[in-house]
Amino acid sequence: MTAAAIRAEIAATGPMRLDRFMAHANAAYYASRDPLGARGDFVTAPEITQAFGELLGVWAVTVWQAMGTPTRLVLAELGPGRGTLMEDALRAIGRVAPGFRAALSLHLVETSPALREIQRVRLGEATWHETAEALPEGPMILIANEFLDALPIRRFFRAGEAWVEQAVTLAEGRLAFTAMPAAPPPDIAAAGGGEVCEAARALAALLGTRLAREGGAALFIDYGRADEATQDSLQAVRGHARADPLAEPGEADLTAHVDFRAFAAPARAAGAAVQGPVPQGEFLRRLGLPERTAILCRNALPAQAALLQSGARRLMDADAMGLLFKAIALCDPRLPPLPGFAA
Ligand code: SAH
Repeated sequence: MTAAAIRAEIAATGPMRLDRFMAHANAAYYASRDPLGARGDFVTAPEITQAFGELLGVWAVTVWQAMGTPTRLVLAELGPGRGTLMEDALRAIGRVAPGFRAALSLHLVETSPALREIQRVRLGEATWHETAEALPEGPMILIANEFLDALPIRRFFRAGEAWVEQAVTLAEGRLAFTAMPAAPPPDIAAAGGGEVCEAARALAALLGTRLAREGGAALFIDYGRADEATQDSLQAVRGHARADPLAEPGEADLTAHVDFRAFAAPARAAGAAVQGPVPQGEFLRRLGLPERTAILCRNALPAQAALLQSGARRLMDADAMGLLFKAIALCDPRLPPLPGFAA
């Protein structure tokens, strides 16, 4: 749905719930472009250093071994972007565990036609899906970096005695925030209000059920808080700078903080175990990012080595991405503590 269609719907039927607005704005945003990189709107960990995807590939190898080296399994990624993470992961997997490389079938969940095309060129043989529900059955290892933050949220708050939720309306021809009556889920009411990502909760329940039954693990890396409901974190980014989320829907990337506690709960209730969340800096240090970076630097030109070093620092430093970003794994409860999650 384009900006014009969003405005037309509001004009015809009244204020639009925040999650519906965010879903349509992001679908329009991602559908037609590659938003990643210096010339795009934002940069993600796999685009910062090849070591990120390589270490996650080796992480998957360890999980495959802990699963008992199944001879067939699904390797899935949600929202693969440019395919960089998976390309780096598959290279590492092929090097350290050819048996895993031969056993896996690659499944990518991606709604954007433009990004699917980039992924196809990059990764070759794979099966694409619109949703995680469509992933085939069986043991699975799943990876998702900066996927959950793009899923649509609702935001509940109190207006006097009544509960309301954030919505988008038209005021004098411009998009503007408003509030409409609503009933928050019990945990959000108990917290005095805040954001809810229903799609993330449903995804956690879906994955929790299948991982407990069929085996495997799902690793999510994203940004957000681990301890309490997020209150008001919707942000728009365009050209590497903050933008107004309502200014031009479909032209900026809309994200919100991930509520890791709320994401873990439905997976546990479905029978899965949850490991983490662990701050990204700690997680990557435990996986060996400093050591892997040192090895890459040995064969790199000085300028490349400097980029690899500054990239690793950016991912690990507490005042960059090291603390706000976190890793969490939903997994088969029979699995031992997975790499990065055990001290
Ligand atoms: N994981 C990549 C890209 C992150 S950007 C990286 O780390 O670089 C978010 C990705 O999720 C994009 O590929 C986008 O097209 C995809 N995406 C966003 N919302 C989605 C949805 N509801 N279903 C499937 N894919 C989605």
